[in-house]
Amino acid sequence: MTLPQRLIELLCGTEPKLRRMLQYWAATCLLYVVCIGLMLVQVDQGMTDPVTATRLIAFGSCGVCAFYVLIRASGRLKVAPDQLAVSQAMFSLICGMGAYAISGPLRAAMLSMTVVVIVFCMFASKPRQTLLLTVAALVGMGATMYWMQLRDPARYPPVTEAITFGYLAGALLSTAVLSGEMSKLRSRLKRQRRELSDALDTIRVLATVDELTSLVNRRRMNELLEAEERRQPGGREDRTLSCIALLDIDFFKQVNDQNGHAVGDAVLRSFSSTARACLRANDVLARWGGEEFLLLLPDAAPEDARLVLERMAEHVRDMPVPGLQGRRISFSAGLATRRAGEPFADAIHRADKALYQAKAAGRDRIVLA
Ligand code: GH3
Ligand code: MG
Ligand code: MG
Repeated sequence: MTLPQRLIELLCGTEPKLRRMLQYWAATCLLYVVCIGLMLVQVDQGMTDPVTATRLIAFGSCGVCAFYVLIRASGRLKVAPDQLAVSQAMFSLICGMGAYAISGPLRAAMLSMTVVVIVFCMFASKPRQTLLLTVAALVGMGATMYWMQLRDPARYPPVTEAITFGYLAGALLSTAVLSGEMSKLRSRLKRQRRELSDALDTIRVLATVDELTSLVNRRRMNELLEAEERRQPGGREDRTLSCIALLDIDFFKQVNDQNGHAVGDAVLRSFSSTARACLRANDVLARWGGEEFLLLLPDAAPEDARLVLERMAEHVRDMPVPGLQGRRISFSAGLATRRAGEPFADAIHRADKALYQAKAAGRDRIVLA
């Protein structure tokens, strides 16, 4: 980790939610810096009293630092991000009222900051909280204006203050209406994102899993075989890398004809779960089509693969299937080894030939290619 990265981690933590809150805080900070700069120009130009301006700048700066500490500790203090955003906005509104009271001829410019604070809050708080802030801004700023026209009517004439308040109220109420619309838009987007993510999950399952047996489907198996080819691309020609077997249920058409298609389906499901239970964690059994299955046994010697298939045949023979009326199920298998550098397609072709031999020799057997 580089030094700047370590510094960022130290200042902003690692949690994405906290980082986003601190990003908002940094944006607020920037706004405070600009406002403080402008306030200093006002003081320099003799438009604002330096003592009150210094007090306000100190108050604002201390508040900004305190909010950094609060945000950093929000997890431990269990303060919700929206509550923090509202408190921060409330603090900014109070600073805005102070700035209005000391800015004399420039006071109307301070009102733009009040609107900015509410807009900021639209992104980080709930619509009800934004409405509450709007009301607080109106009441607070109205009280400041009322107080100033009583205290200093020459610089803050009552009519000017009343008209200014009217404009502010119009701007803030329009912002509040917009905030409600934006919140509806946000919840619609959230819902659509959730629906899209659910649909993607479904598509992912449909694209990789066989619906009847819950086994890996042919499409996914081809991807896994390609991945296996990449994992074990070459090496010594005589070395066995993995085994592949094609399995086909014997006389399955008879099962369907004599017991019905539903029982045939039940056989396919029972066969799949029984066969899968006989495998190691990284072996893969896929439904290759109809009542035919492809088994991949990575890093397995043919003798071991044969043992697995024999154990599987035993369990399949004993598996109970509702509606089968005591009939035993068997399968035939063609087993092939994949040698270094050999494409899986070739090994599958040899396994298919071996399966054909197993069928021709009377079924219920395993033939090694
Ligand atoms: P063999 O021992 O030579 O393999 O004979 P078989 O009867 O098993 O083979 P065949 O290819 O003649 O018949 C396979 C049958 O599998 C035909 C088809 O209707 C049935 N089948 C394929 N997919 C499904 C399925 O999803 N459900 C059910 N119930 N039957 C299926
Ligand atoms: Mg069959
Ligand atoms: Mg078949």
